[in-house]
Amino acid sequence: MAKIFCVANQKGGVGKTTTTVNLAAGLAKVGQRVLVVDLDPQGNATMGSGIDKRALELSVYDVLLESASVAEAKQHSEKAGYDVLGANRELAGAEVELVELERRERRLKTALAAASADYDFILIDCPPSLSMLTLNGLCCAHGVVVPMQCEYFALEGLSDLVNTIKQVHANLNADLQIIGLLRVMFDPRITLQNQVSDQLKAHFGDKVFDTVIPRNVRLAEAPSYGLPGVVFDPSSKGAQAFVDFAREMVRRIATM
Ligand code: ADP
Ligand code: MG
Repeated sequence: MAKIFCVANQKGGVGKTTTTVNLAAGLAKVGQRVLVVDLDPQGNATMGSGIDKRALELSVYDVLLESASVAEAKQHSEKAGYDVLGANRELAGAEVELVELERRERRLKTALAAASADYDFILIDCPPSLSMLTLNGLCCAHGVVVPMQCEYFALEGLSDLVNTIKQVHANLNADLQIIGLLRVMFDPRITLQNQVSDQLKAHFGDKVFDTVIPRNVRLAEAPSYGLPGVVFDPSSKGAQAFVDFAREMVRRIATM
């Protein structure tokens, strides 16, 4: 059965999608069977995995509305090395449509359960909000990976997410826990970043992943080629850090 993880942080531009596609590619590289679920109507994880969001016949939208199964709607990205349940702008409508439906926050959970035996890891790229879509992700996950930049307001922004995770844990999904905080876009030359990094470790202890993802331009360039950085330039510092992170995740899961 697959282990299911949400990559979540309610802030935009913090590195969720970059983390999702590169962790997926890193896991694929070390022999894991991976499905990426794009839960963001922007469809960046879809495009960044080499799947054209404008050409999707079926997407995560159809899965949430139960008009398609994961097996029917997923696509394989040959280049990236994993499967993708894609998203595009249509998904923005699901937010409103789901409100009317029963089991509205458990739709994805039900759908993924049927596909779980086909994968070792399912990674869900969440939108930058604590919305019904994110709630669907949190309801089916075993854990949350939180990418964060070591900046001044980082800790403050974290408390909303931590509270949401606690509520979901209490009411909807007793399995849910924070697997770890991932420091991304890290620049060791910046004193403030080192200070915030130390604060994070003091506050969250071993919930902070050992791996640190550096700021690396190759990671930022890769999406325009429809590739995760890990595939686009495997020798880059950013790619190597994500492969290290994939190995760290595999180790952490073994002790879960
Ligand atoms: P989110 O999904 O949280 O909105 P993204 O993953 O799209 O965030 O990242 C926001 C921007 O930062 C993107 O342009 C991305 O290419 C860039 N980026 C993310 N991680 C890195 C990194 N480690 N080094 C350099 N640029 C990065
Ligand atoms: Mg994103």
